[in-house]
Amino acid sequence: MPGPSAPVVEPTSSPALNAARKVLRDVFGYGEFRPGQAEVISAVLAKRDTLAVMPTGGGKSVCYQVPALLRTDGLTLVVSPLLALMKDQVDAMRAMGVPAAAINSTVAIEEQREVLAAAGSGELRLLYVAPERFGAAGFMAALRSLPVALLAIDEAHCISQWGHDFRPSYRELGAVRDRIGSPPVVALTATADPRVRDDIVQRLGLHDPAIHVAGFDRPNLRFEVAKVSSLKEKFEGISAQLRALKDESAIVYCGTRKRVEEVTDSLQRAGIRCARYHAGMQDEDRKRIQDAFARDTLRVIVATNAFGMGIDKPDVRAVIHHDMPDSLESYYQEAGRAGRDGGAATCTLYYATRDRGLREFFIEMAHPEASRVVEVYQQLVTFGGNRVHVREVMRENDEPGINAAVQSLVESGLVGRAGYSVWATRLDGEADIDTAGLEAHREHSFQKLDAMENYARSRTCLRARILEYFGDATHELACGNCGPCISGGETHEEATTGAEDSLFRDLRETRKAIADRDGVPPFVVFSDATLRDMAKKRPRNRMEMLSVSGVGQVKFERYGEAFLSVMRAATAPLPERKTLYSRATKAADGSKLTPSLRETLSLYEDGIRDVRTMARARALSPSTIANHLGQLLMYGAIPDLDGMVDEEKVALVRTAAKGQPITSIGALKQQLGEQVTYEDLHLIRAWLARK
Ligand code: ADP
Ligand code: MG
Repeated sequence: MPGPSAPVVEPTSSPALNAARKVLRDVFGYGEFRPGQAEVISAVLAKRDTLAVMPTGGGKSVCYQVPALLRTDGLTLVVSPLLALMKDQVDAMRAMGVPAAAINSTVAIEEQREVLAAAGSGELRLLYVAPERFGAAGFMAALRSLPVALLAIDEAHCISQWGHDFRPSYRELGAVRDRIGSPPVVALTATADPRVRDDIVQRLGLHDPAIHVAGFDRPNLRFEVAKVSSLKEKFEGISAQLRALKDESAIVYCGTRKRVEEVTDSLQRAGIRCARYHAGMQDEDRKRIQDAFARDTLRVIVATNAFGMGIDKPDVRAVIHHDMPDSLESYYQEAGRAGRDGGAATCTLYYATRDRGLREFFIEMAHPEASRVVEVYQQLVTFGGNRVHVREVMRENDEPGINAAVQSLVESGLVGRAGYSVWATRLDGEADIDTAGLEAHREHSFQKLDAMENYARSRTCLRARILEYFGDATHELACGNCGPCISGGETHEEATTGAEDSLFRDLRETRKAIADRDGVPPFVVFSDATLRDMAKKRPRNRMEMLSVSGVGQVKFERYGEAFLSVMRAATAPLPERKTLYSRATKAADGSKLTPSLRETLSLYEDGIRDVRTMARARALSPSTIANHLGQLLMYGAIPDLDGMVDEEKVALVRTAAKGQPITSIGALKQQLGEQVTYEDLHLIRAWLARK
């Protein structure tokens, strides 16, 4: 396994891999593969079943996205468990000029049909689907007629009950492959537990799979443990940390919903803007908060571990744990949400000795002692199948413990339960209680908790502990970038100059403006890591811009000029800067056309006149496109309405407006009803205004 000090052994430069590297550069704008990516991509391109185990933020998506662009003989089908994640991935792909789409329960039937048609005609390279879709007969029938070149299963640990995020909808995936023409499968996960890994291979029926476990080290993450003795100390530490982060993003994880509520309230009272997130909240509230976080309008989230897999935000600068998680797997996965862009980030675990108690309680609830389960069953048998109140089952007053035992008996089918009443459904089932299985799960859970606590108490390199735990053998004994290694407090971050920082902030503002205009999260435009690299390199032209990590060709076409203008403004003499800068954000390149406007214009120049077709091609809403066309008409970039709006409609509107400038489109629409659309009105208004 390649570790931090081992050279990255890349499979020699096969033609396939060279092609992959070219795609990585041209489309994704990345100069090099990250550890493991080249190996996984080689195996996938050789049509082998592949299991890729890489840490969160390690770059798993690229492992199927690059092959998807190279496998021109068919489509790459990506199974992904979370809708929000799917949307972001599709947005990100489209921003790079890659035709991708998603099908899930939020997509209207009509649009699903269009997407499948696009897939059938070979237009699409990637199709993201929610696992439940495979249960729909119509969808399966449509799928069977498509050439699927690769089946990618993201977050593959969801298929295993040993994992921490089992999802029933994943269980059926094993059968899916054979029903869609048996394409090769690539399964991806960040869970390193060997038991989960075996489970994935078995349940997906991978044939002689290539298994790649990439180095688990995330050198840009700094790990620290803050040992405290009271809740008050935790709170003080966390609020100070959040203040120091200024306007950077952070996640604060808490062990329970109640704790989330308390910590959020306290932080807000202390004047720190943040929002709560846990599974007890309404779906819409959760979605709203998640979106706000992705779009940078909200910087700090206080959450239970329910806030997780859907979060692919690359520029989280700190993940803070208020309470110790149940295992290093959980911890590393949650902490790993920091610094996915490769930039410096901090992962802090707050630990008080008594924190273990909460975790032990959860284990007792999930995995009661086998002897206890047997005892409770024997007791219920003495009631001869009659219903009794849970509290009457045992003499001791241990309701949670008894509940846990009852729950486990219900799961094995020996006991029934309705509210507080419980009864034995069979009286001769004692031998069927899987005591060995119960004990194994319990043991497993305690071992994981022990490893977690050893980490929290460690006086030696935290990174080394993590890597040892995940079986990454080649790590160094002291990383020099974690709490115990530093403990003097000196930093190892690369010093950035003030000018670089201020340029970075300008670039971020431009990114935000573009993202808001296009209705996508900022990181879909460029990641923080890309903007930092840009601020450092200060590219002055296309060639130099393409050397920035994360700037591919299509993204350059779309956004390059806007960012080049910021760069020009930054190097201009001071007095000119302000005007140059404000022009840069508003309109790229000093001309009136932003990159997005120019792109809409190029569709027009390609002969497309229909607003809806343009909207689909650009993955923007029709009203945005109409707005673009309106501006283009005003600037004279588009000569007239020919082909876009019928002359009769123009006449109709002109009459209705009685020669006055049109101020309210809504009023006109009301007056004219179905005769015109809002888009028509936008265009006609611009046209008349120009005349
Ligand atoms: P995960 O393994 O958690 O699914 P992602 O696929 O979301 O990670 O990748 C994390 C981040 O790393 C993304 O912003 C992605 O674009 C970036 N990334 C992936 N591969 C590379 C690479 N070879 N060089 C630089 N950045 C990369
Ligand atoms: Mg991922």
